Amino acid sequence: TSFDYAAHLKSAIRTVPDWPQPGVMFRDITPLLQTPRTFRLLIDVFVHRYMDADVDLIAGLDARGFIIGSVLAYELNLGFVPIRKKGKLPFTTVAEEYELEYGNATVEMHTDACRAGDRVVLVDDLVATGGTMMAGYKLLQKLGAEVVEAAAIIELPELKGGELIRTAGLPLYTVCSFD
Ligand code: AMP
Repeated sequence: TSFDYAAHLKSAIRTVPDWPQPGVMFRDITPLLQTPRTFRLLIDVFVHRYMDADVDLIAGLDARGFIIGSVLAYELNLGFVPIRKKGKLPFTTVAEEYELEYGNATVEMHTDACRAGDRVVLVDDLVATGGTMMAGYKLLQKLGAEVVEAAAIIELPELKGGELIRTAGLPLYTVCSFD
């Protein structure tokens, strides 16, 4: 039988119940990153998906999207741009506010982080409600980028974030999901 890389990667993710608050099942990717074989496998899966694609740039979401996105960009010989939480970027920025369970958050990108027409893959570790990924998508669109695909390690189908993203017209690739 063939090697089930998705199941192997999923088994390297640790679930921490009730963190950061009661009721949340936190999907912790640090064991996956810490083990050389699973870290390499994860990056290889993403590299394989985009190596022949027409992509100009990788954008990563603060903060775990930086870890995957920057290594992926390096391997694909592409540039990397960070989409950061409000107040961290020093140059002129574009901003997008989005809803959290309690309150809102804002993400920012440098105005010169990409050019109109750039083909971008947007990366984060996990899609829950999809709010974070959608905010990144909107920022990239503000700068005229063409977002080819959103990519994450984990999708939580119950929260319907994947559905939200795909319905908005953005293809979403995820390696595994947790019910
Ligand atoms: P959302 O915007 O609701 O799709 O949430 C996605 C963002 O929040 C990602 O940047 C994740 O790192 C983080 N996140 C949300 N829920 C979880 C969870 N259950 N486990 C780990 N990270 C999560």
